[in-house]
Amino acid sequence: MYDYGMSSVLAHAESILLSPTELAAALEVHQQQAAVLALAVAHVQEAGRWADDGSVTMRSWMRDTCRMSDRDAGEWLRRGKLLNHFEPIAEAALDGLLSHSQLTELERCNRPKYEALLREMVEGLVNEVAPLDAQLTAAVCQRWRERADAIIEEHEPAEEPERSLSFSRAGDHAVLGRFTLDDAGGSELETAIRNAITHEGKNETRSLAQRQGDAFFDICAFYNKNHRAKGTKRNLPNMSFSVHADTLTGKNPEAINLDEWRHMSGAYADTKMCDCAVHKVLRDATDQPQAFGRTQYIVPQRLFRQLVERDCGCRFPGCTRTVKHCDAHHIQYWRNMGLTDYWNLVLLCTRHHHLVHQQSLQLDLQPTGELRVTWRDGRERVSPPRHGPPRGAPPHPSAVFAFA
Ligand SMILES: [Zn+2]
Ligand SMILES: [Zn+2]
Repeated sequence: MYDYGMSSVLAHAESILLSPTELAAALEVHQQQAAVLALAVAHVQEAGRWADDGSVTMRSWMRDTCRMSDRDAGEWLRRGKLLNHFEPIAEAALDGLLSHSQLTELERCNRPKYEALLREMVEGLVNEVAPLDAQLTAAVCQRWRERADAIIEEHEPAEEPERSLSFSRAGDHAVLGRFTLDDAGGSELETAIRNAITHEGKNETRSLAQRQGDAFFDICAFYNKNHRAKGTKRNLPNMSFSVHADTLTGKNPEAINLDEWRHMSGAYADTKMCDCAVHKVLRDATDQPQAFGRTQYIVPQRLFRQLVERDCGCRFPGCTRTVKHCDAHHIQYWRNMGLTDYWNLVLLCTRHHHLVHQQSLQLDLQPTGELRVTWRDGRERVSPPRHGPPRGAPPHPSAVFAFA
């Protein structure tokens, strides 16, 4: 247990017993140092180094490492942001011209809607409040916000276009929601659905609502595969999930979506495992991570390009979706020791890939490139070869890459 003796207090006695003048000066120095620290908070946040120990946000890092309440961490972050974004405020704080309380008042002017105006007017505002006490500073800042509101109102366009979307998970994991779109948004949606909707001719069994639902799913999956934000090289959707090794070769893999901390259905996990980047984490008996492996693509880029040459797009009978919509599907599941092999892989668009796993369809790829799809009730459909096997294709069958 910590010894609460007087020695520490005594050791600091000389610096604790200050005259009022010395105390005022010491408090000023303290506030200047706090400004330096707030800038350090902003710096560490921007550099992203808080993630080094696995923290998810700078705020959570501060809670865990500095034993701060969420509120205190938020205050440091707000202060850092203010000083980092507005140089005149930072300079005045570092020079001891603005107190902690004055900075708190200025922070109230640093809302997103005022940002552009504050940037223009910050120097004048700092000069105006620097000689004042906290109460007068609050009044000046309040007046500044009222003026800013008036200016913003004058320049604001008549009305924001109304677009809203709200959704949540229902008990059975389905997502339910409602949306409102203005004329422009509505036209975009109608066009996108029109472009994405499919009809399977005489084989079509879906209602219009189901076909529109499938189209909406395709639009979301297409965006996730082709967006330009940070991701994997082939823009495989960035999703983390954990699969228990013991269940990997069973009928249903036990998988948890780590981003949302929910169980995934076996078919969904299987679809994702067909074509993804795997990062292995070995856990001990108590589920603590013990070792981290390197990230590897289950289907390497070179092999994926060979499949593109052969399949040109989704190989599901009747589907004409292009490569941009496609995953590489393992005919014999990868987790059931299926090889990541030219002849064990076939391109399927997102919707048909999920369908194949959900309905446990049996696929059979012939050396001619013909693909037979068999339903569990015995129905069979055939997808003819697209271009025939490309020259230089590996002999059938051969392992090009086996995931170890
Ligand atoms: Zn698959
Ligand atoms: Zn398809």
